[in-house]
Formats: sequence, C-alpha cells, structure tokens
Amino acid sequence: MIEFEKIKIPKTGQKVEIKDDKIIVPDNPIIPFIEGDGIGPDIMKVTRKVIDAAVEKAYKGKKKIIWFEIFAGEKAQKIYGTVLPEDTFEAIENYLIVIKGPLTTPVGGGYRSLNVTLRQKFDLYSCIRPVRYFNGVPSPVKHPEQMNVVIFRENTEDVYAGIEWKEGTVEAKKIIDFIKNTYKIDIASDSGIGIKPISIKRTERLVRAAIKYAINKKLNRVTLVHKGNIMKFTEGSFRDWGYNLAHREFKDQIITEDDLWEIYNGNIPEGKILINDRIADSMFQQILTRTNEYQVIATPNLNGDYLSDAAAAQIGGLGMAPGANIGDFIGLFEATHGSAPKYTGQDKVNPSSLILSGVMMLDYMGWDKAGVIITNAIQKTIKQKKVTYDLARLMENIKPIKCSEYGNEIIKNM
Ligand code: NAD
Repeated sequence: MIEFEKIKIPKTGQKVEIKDDKIIVPDNPIIPFIEGDGIGPDIMKVTRKVIDAAVEKAYKGKKKIIWFEIFAGEKAQKIYGTVLPEDTFEAIENYLIVIKGPLTTPVGGGYRSLNVTLRQKFDLYSCIRPVRYFNGVPSPVKHPEQMNVVIFRENTEDVYAGIEWKEGTVEAKKIIDFIKNTYKIDIASDSGIGIKPISIKRTERLVRAAIKYAINKKLNRVTLVHKGNIMKFTEGSFRDWGYNLAHREFKDQIITEDDLWEIYNGNIPEGKILINDRIADSMFQQILTRTNEYQVIATPNLNGDYLSDAAAAQIGGLGMAPGANIGDFIGLFEATHGSAPKYTGQDKVNPSSLILSGVMMLDYMGWDKAGVIITNAIQKTIKQKKVTYDLARLMENIKPIKCSEYGNEIIKNM
C-alpha cells in the first residue's frame, strides 16, 4: 500500500497497472489530477465534468473515472510549503495516467519550470501535440481545414535540459576559460552559458514513437524538423539518427523523398510511410503554405515548442491546443498553453485545450468511444457559435459565453 503524507487515496476505484509491457486500465481507474495555477481551476473543473459526462454516455455506468486530486504549484505551496511535494511524485509514479492544469513558472529566477521538472523526472520523452481544425473556428489563414498534424516534440534534452549558468558566476567563467584554453575559442566574458545536449538514444526513442504513431493511425508522412544546417552535431545529428532508426527498424514500412520521386513517381504507395526532413525555419513557412503535406512531425525540444504554438495559431490559437507528455508508460496530459494569470478566477477562458488533452487521455486508456463523443460535441458547439471570448472576438457579432457555460453546452451536445 502506498503511503502519502497529505493526500488521501480514494476509497473506491483501482489502480491502472502495467502487465506484459502494456497499460491495463480497470473500469473504475483512479486518475490523479493537478488543478494547476491561474486559469487551471476553471478549466480543470469543466474538463472533468465533460469527461465524466462522455464516459457515462459511452459506457452507461459500466466505466467511470475515480478522480484523485494531487498538488503542484501554488496550491501545493499552501498545503505543503513546497511547489512540488514528494506525494505528487509518488502519485504519478504509482497511478501512471495523470491530467494536469498549467503551472506558473517565474521568468529569469525563482524555481525551475515544474512542467519541465515533471517531464524530466518521469522521463516523459514524447510531448505529443495534435493540431487540427474544428469547423467554424475563426482563423487567420484561408484554409485552416488543411491543418491536421501531430507534433512529437522531444521532451527531455536540447537547450531545455536546464543546464545553464548565469553570467558572472564562477561556473560560467570556468566554462568560458576551459573552452578558451582547450579549444582556443573565444566566448565573450560577460556571457551566460547554456548547454544543448542531443543524444542518439533519446532521438531514436522519440522518432520511433512518432513512426509507430503514424503506423497505428494509418498516416503516411513523418517529417523530421531540425536546424541541422547550423547546429550540425546536435540538430543535424537528430536528422541523421532519425533516418538511421527509420531504415533500421521500419525498413519495409518506409520510403524516403528520393524513393518517392525516383521509384514512385511522386505518389506514396499504399501501406508505406514517407520519411522526409525539413529545416526548422523553412518548416514555419511550409506549415503555412503547404499545410496538408504534413501529418506527423518529430523534432527536438525547442523547435517543437515554437512550432506547436505557431501551428495552433492557424486553427484558433492556444485555447484549442491539447497535449500529452508520454514516456514508456506514464502519461501526463496537459494543454499546450500556460496559466494565463490575468484571467485567474474569471471563468472566462477556453477550456477546449484541456478537454482535448482529456480526449487524448481517454484514447491512451483505450476509452476512445468517450473521446469521440467529446470531439463531436465540441464540433457541434462551435458550429452553434457558442464559444468563449478568445474565439468570439475573432467572429462577428458573437457574444462570448463563460468557460463553465461552454462546458455545459458541450455536454448538451453529446
Ligand atoms: P499563457 O499560455 O499562459 O497565456 C498567454 C495568452 O494566451 C493569455 O494571456 C491568453 O490571452 C491566451 N490564452 C492562453 N490560454 C488560453 C485559453 N485556454 N483560452 C483563451 N486564451 C488563452 O502564456 P504566458 O502568459 O506566457 O505564461 C503564463 C504562465 O504559464 C508562465 O508562468 C509560464 O511559464 C506558464 N506556462 C506553463 C505551461 C504548462 O503548465 N505546461 C505552458 C506554458 C506556459
């Protein structure tokens, strides 16, 4: 039996387990949730209500999530005196599938990002961000419906590994001196220093996850996005290792862009996946101008962070952008956006990103029937022009509804 310091395990429900390298989800799984900071409480409340309604609708009482609140961020600070207590780590490790609201990170100082800490601690190496369009959402582009990509962003290394030293510290000076003395390379003495590690193993497991996803979902394009022309031995190697992995482990299932034109006359043959690559800056153009040529994208951490927000802008913005952080077994589901502190407690923002992260969670649990009910109901609600302020202000003569009202409309539309 797991012992917690301050949280109480629900009296009913069972744990999600791992058996024979597979996740086994009981009919009444205990699912921990972290409310999050800022707008977190508003969107989490609505999300749980919508998920519960969809599960009830899909399984008529045979399945039900038993929610288990665990703490991080400001709420944890109040209860435990620390922003990321041991109880929370224990709960994630033991219950495996968790949904979380956004957590505030101080800029420039204070504590490190709790989100990054959680991803690293549990080795949640794939940050998966599907970006798709719902009819009726206002968009700055002419054909938003062409956007349907899933971004696999490496989640544990790159400049996000958190290896950095402030300008003026002994450590920064030591590194600057070491590089100067050993390699005769000058770095300005008033520099802060950051390190960008990208490794074979971590690249391979991310690219493997992206290709497997494409195979499972019957998609036929996986694009490696990198800045390898400039950062040759990190981003460039990401590309090379990605191709090597594809050739080694998925030899019979993939073709390259050369094959596509030399052998297949520009048409991807049935049952094959095209693996290609794009340089990150050009990809920001491509995703705008040739949107429908991309399906699954695998990319290092920083590129993935930028690219997923940019792609989300084409389909309605951050309020419509879900995400998941997945390791070998643990899945931590969260919206792409942050805690939007200025809207705290106003019951105002768009909960769709977190609700759609919940849909990803239901998919991961094998409860996709409930996920489909939610997705269809969101589509219906948006078509009825019942939307929160972020979408309403981009539409003509639409009065926004509150976050909680939007949730209720989704439930009515199930
Ligand atoms: P943000 O994503 O919180 O908000 C930026 C703006 O986007 C908001 O002011 C709002 O206009 C809009 N927005 C965001 N979510 C929305 C929603 N659901 N509906 C409608 N509009 C929405 O970014 P920020 O202001 O740069 O960051 C605030 C805090 O969140 C920071 O402390 C940051 O570190 C943190 N953050 C956390 C996560 C996470 O928990 N995974 C992710 C990103 C940022």
